[in-house]
Amino acid sequence: MKIGIMGAMIEEIEPILSNLDNHPPFSSLDYILQNLNQLRVHNIANNRYFEAKYKGCDLVVAYSKIGKVYASLTASVLIQHFNIDYLLFSGVAGALREDLKIGDLICATKLCQHDLDITAFGHPYGYVPEGKIFIEASKELILTAKEVAKEKKVELKEGIIATGDQFIADPKRKEWIRKTFNADAIEMEGAAVAVVCDAFDIPFFILRSISDSANDEAAFDFDEFLKHSSQRSAKFIISMVDKIIDERG
Ligand code: SAH
Repeated sequence: MKIGIMGAMIEEIEPILSNLDNHPPFSSLDYILQNLNQLRVHNIANNRYFEAKYKGCDLVVAYSKIGKVYASLTASVLIQHFNIDYLLFSGVAGALREDLKIGDLICATKLCQHDLDITAFGHPYGYVPEGKIFIEASKELILTAKEVAKEKKVELKEGIIATGDQFIADPKRKEWIRKTFNADAIEMEGAAVAVVCDAFDIPFFILRSISDSANDEAAFDFDEFLKHSSQRSAKFIISMVDKIIDERG
């Protein structure tokens, strides 16, 4: 079995790699690479992919860079080059819903692209011919996540995640996305990963820890909470990997 773990930014995958390779929990990628133990690094299409053995299972960890295009590229490489069986995404997101507070964990039930717009031709927002407005994440992996949450006694929320190539820090745009797609959280990669995994029929799971509320303070909050929220998400993803290995390894 091979599991792909993806983030968009270096800060999102550092806590995953440091957990896997027995480094101090908050070590930087430079530190991890200098003290490389069981990681193999591959350079493909201007990105690094970190291959590791973990509890007898093969893992490939990668960060894509920010946005839908880079996320699609990384998801495609994980699937086509590395032949992963599952894709787990770990990262941060802005909250669209009132009850989602900074640090909270939310997994996507389904995802959409809020900036995909050919409405001039009479189509709904987020739709292109032969595509889908919403793509559902793997129900099986969501079930696994719920079991992990119960066992670890952490709260895991669920909801619709809207993705687009924009950092949302604007109450008006936030409200529009919330209303148009009934979305709960906002980020810049999830739906791209969903489209690729859906096309290749690879079960995927998108987890985000809230870093900001997509409002006027979003940029400030993001910088303040990126590290902490990334670590929360990474910790949960590692527990999910443990569970997947226990159940299916
Ligand atoms: N500070 C970074 C840019 C971060 S962009 C820099 O200067 O390089 C925001 C990243 O976090 C994206 O990967 C996105 O998926 C997620 N994200 C968090 N809050 C978001 C928000 N309010 N709107 C859109 N994406 C958000």
